Amino acid sequence: MKKSIETQLLESDKTFKKWKNVPFAEWQELLSKLSKTLLEKKEVFAEIITKEMNKPIAQSVSEIEKCAGMCDFYAKAANVLKPEQVETGHEISEIHREPMGVILGIMPWNFPFWQALRFAVPAILAGNVIVLKHASICYKSGDTMEKLFVEVGFPKGIFTHLKVSHDEVEEMIANPVIKGVSLTGSEGAGRKIAETAGRNLKKCVLELGGSDAFIVLEDAELDTAAKDAAQARLQNCGQTCVAGKRFIIHSKIYKEFLEKFIAEYKKFQPENPLDKETKLGLMAREDLASDLEKQYKKALKSGAEILLPLTAVGNMAFEPGLIEMNEGNPVLQEELFGPLGMVFKAKDDDDALKIANDTMFGLANAVYTKDRKRAMYFAENLESGSVAINQIFRSDWRMPFGGRKNSGYGTELSLYALDEFTIKKSIIGE
Ligand code: NDP
Repeated sequence: MKKSIETQLLESDKTFKKWKNVPFAEWQELLSKLSKTLLEKKEVFAEIITKEMNKPIAQSVSEIEKCAGMCDFYAKAANVLKPEQVETGHEISEIHREPMGVILGIMPWNFPFWQALRFAVPAILAGNVIVLKHASICYKSGDTMEKLFVEVGFPKGIFTHLKVSHDEVEEMIANPVIKGVSLTGSEGAGRKIAETAGRNLKKCVLELGGSDAFIVLEDAELDTAAKDAAQARLQNCGQTCVAGKRFIIHSKIYKEFLEKFIAEYKKFQPENPLDKETKLGLMAREDLASDLEKQYKKALKSGAEILLPLTAVGNMAFEPGLIEMNEGNPVLQEELFGPLGMVFKAKDDDDALKIANDTMFGLANAVYTKDRKRAMYFAENLESGSVAINQIFRSDWRMPFGGRKNSGYGTELSLYALDEFTIKKSIIGE
């Protein structure tokens, strides 16, 4: 391992040993300042995001506002990490939660501030120290967050951004200083990181891809559902893990809904991401755009039908596409990370459920129906970490967030996330 990385890890470990016992409430005061500063500088940070990965600027501003909201939530959260007394018959019988130490976050480019802070903030509040390996197109976001932590009063070294290669990440996970790792990214990266973490017996949290269903039943409010469906697929240029990607429409309203959906979909046309009115930006990287085109062609070759063609406009922009999928199409088991949606016709509720669950992913499905009982049937039987009813799924810092199947494991957000990188120590005695 490069000397500079080793030195940095030792520095992080020193920081951990010095700061691990800082009272919860003190970290919370600093989080409150972090929240305020994020809001004060939201335009500046948003511009960094947009310039790095082409997200429409209004959505970048919303991303920073969401980060501020999440920090404020943790700044005011109940201390669920306090020692617990348990009735066991022993005189001393307590559970203490201790921070693990230096935790490595490997984060993606699609929400450069949100993904990194969503992981880091609860881990720090629990007493850990963070080392971030950010996506290689987001180094400025990584550096800016590192500076921001110091600026609001956190000790230097509490959040360190290291520009390291994949091989160096592997070495870092093997290093005894690193006690845990959290990755948000692709299924492939997840397998690699989980393998390395497993080999080194390190705790690992994985938030991977999704291919979530957006189910519209025949009694749904169709205008709202159509508008939400387009938004769910196309926000952030379709590069969102929890985006609606598979639109499962009840056969009774298939034609009617599709007309409305396509009309809404067409309102998203690629424009300059720095323009405040822009709804659809560009893809983040040329290779991702070219991968999406390849998946589109593969789906068509395997029997999918075009409802709206995916049309390249330059190297990284598309007029969004929609395809009607056929059973057994191999692309069904892949994540489409861009402005291309898949449409399915369902015979009835059970057929819709079957189609929805017929994927290796399971992050956040959505169902639209006016019938609460029917909605709850879907909520209870959809194989995903979250379900949204009559609304687009958006992660909420008060609620746990995570996937199942190939979408990963572990919990982010909510009070549960505070416990993700802690050791529960049992102390018993007389
Ligand atoms: P990756 O999963 O490759 O990248 C995410 C992060 O993991 C980046 O920081 C990347 O670093 C890092 N990384 C990837 N592989 C390794 C490795 N072997 N060792 C150490 N670090 C690694 O995603 P891509 O950017 O290539 O996007 C590909 C696909 O992944 C997308 O099309 C989408 O399907 C999915 N994805 C899902 C996301 C989500 O929110 N769940 C977010 C981003 C992508 P580096 O940038 O240096 O390669």
